[in-house]
Amino acid sequence: MTIMSAMRDETVITAQRFRHFRTIRSNQQYCKPTVTPAHANLMEENSIVARLLLRNENCNFQIQNASMSAPLPSPHIVILGASFAALTAVRELRKHAPQARISLIAPKAEFFYLPSLIWIPSGLRSGADLTLPLDRFLHDHGVQFIAGRATGLKDGGRTVETDAGEIKNDALLIATGSRFIKKLPGIEHALTLCEGIASAEAIRDRVNAMTSGRIAIGFGGNPNEPAAMRGGPMFELLFGLDTMLRQQGMRDRIELTFFNAAAEPGKRLGEKAVSGLLAEMARRRIDTHLGHKLLGFSDKGVDTEGGHINADLILFMPGLAGPAWAADTGLPLSPGGFFKADEFCRVDGAEKVFVAGDAGSFPGPDWMPKQAHMADLQAKAAAKNLLSTLAGKPVSHRFKIELICIVDTLDQGIMVYRDLKRSILLPSSRLFHWAKRFFEGHYLKIFRH
Ligand SMILES: Cc1cc2nc3c(=O)[nH]c(=O)nc-3n(C[C@H](O)[C@H](O)[C@H](O)COP(=O)(O)OP(=O)(O)OC[C@H]3O[C@@H](n4cnc5c(N)ncnc54)[C@H](O)[C@@H]3O)c2cc1C
Repeated sequence: MTIMSAMRDETVITAQRFRHFRTIRSNQQYCKPTVTPAHANLMEENSIVARLLLRNENCNFQIQNASMSAPLPSPHIVILGASFAALTAVRELRKHAPQARISLIAPKAEFFYLPSLIWIPSGLRSGADLTLPLDRFLHDHGVQFIAGRATGLKDGGRTVETDAGEIKNDALLIATGSRFIKKLPGIEHALTLCEGIASAEAIRDRVNAMTSGRIAIGFGGNPNEPAAMRGGPMFELLFGLDTMLRQQGMRDRIELTFFNAAAEPGKRLGEKAVSGLLAEMARRRIDTHLGHKLLGFSDKGVDTEGGHINADLILFMPGLAGPAWAADTGLPLSPGGFFKADEFCRVDGAEKVFVAGDAGSFPGPDWMPKQAHMADLQAKAAAKNLLSTLAGKPVSHRFKIELICIVDTLDQGIMVYRDLKRSILLPSSRLFHWAKRFFEGHYLKIFRH
């Protein structure tokens, strides 16, 4: 490629980005660069010079060379993942750094709204309702999408190895989520809702095919990292199935058993939550099998140190571990295999590498949830700290630690809130079911065409 053709390509990319920012709605959400006709003409001639002339007067972050007044050429920020943490980071980065070059690497340019998977078994939602293409979002935010999976890191994080080749960056944000520990013997006999739409639809079909019998529902943990678990959706699935079977007049013929190795399951939600959830199970005549270590599953049911649970269908959420590719990054990992981070979301052992969401292990209380809400809070802090670092400024943004969970029961919801000072449980109400639906619609609006 000649220098001229490289400059021509650069001009096209910059002109596209320029057009993109002119079309972005000026709703205060984005900072609009100030571009005069003279700048636009310059863009036609030499994009690199034009980029140096682009000024953003409203933004907090301006990548500057300390000895010069003009900004440096746009840094290349690479984000890994395409879910809550990654997409919130995109929005935050764009808000503060309109001229940054952002690339997003993920297997597909699609967003799945995981929290509503709980409504697929009852038919309240379909897979299509929860799967949104990201083309418009990425275009509107001027993000280059690279289809691929990260497989490792090189050069202290400046190069991401992927199954689509190597990608260089000036700063990196990891948001690739976690994975499930599928080690228990006979795990293939259990269905895991959180694995995605196919699993949720398989649960729907198996429950619909049942005319009698027992469904056993439970969740596990990660013994190496107690915070790495997700129990909330399994309480929701349990109560949602109970409500649905009652509505269908099937509850007398289909029994429900909740099992857990802990005697007080859901303790991380707070003491009040445990007693509230167990009282709700008793009220609904749901059997419990608690406080016994899990041994494995079979086509007959669940085996624990406390005995056997006969079950025709087993729904189980294993504990979480760090993403599989983390082991090939050469970075120090937490006991559970997550990227170890500080309170500013900086990854230990690397420069200008940040992490947000389920992929990270962060300092804080042992109840700090692996939740979409937490992922969003971490992504905002990580994005701001990443830009500070690129600008040569100290990092200063910490994320708030809070747990907000509506345990949905299909027609009602129990609200659980916890922060460093309080732990609140609000009793079952229709209002919370509708609040959860409202929040889903509000969130998905960002990505809908
Ligand atoms: C059934 C269910 C119900 C839930 N309910 C709630 C709720 O009510 N409230 C709440 O706040 N949270 C809830 N959660 C938790 C919430 O969905 C997660 O905490 C959240 O999705 C974490 O977001 P994340 O962006 O960190 O990771 P993820 O959502 O796991 O996304 C990871 C992204 O990285 C991509 N990726 C994976 N590997 C690679 C790789 N090697 N290279 C590049 N990309 C990769 C994936 O394709 C994906 O786009 C629920 C989860 C489930 C499953």
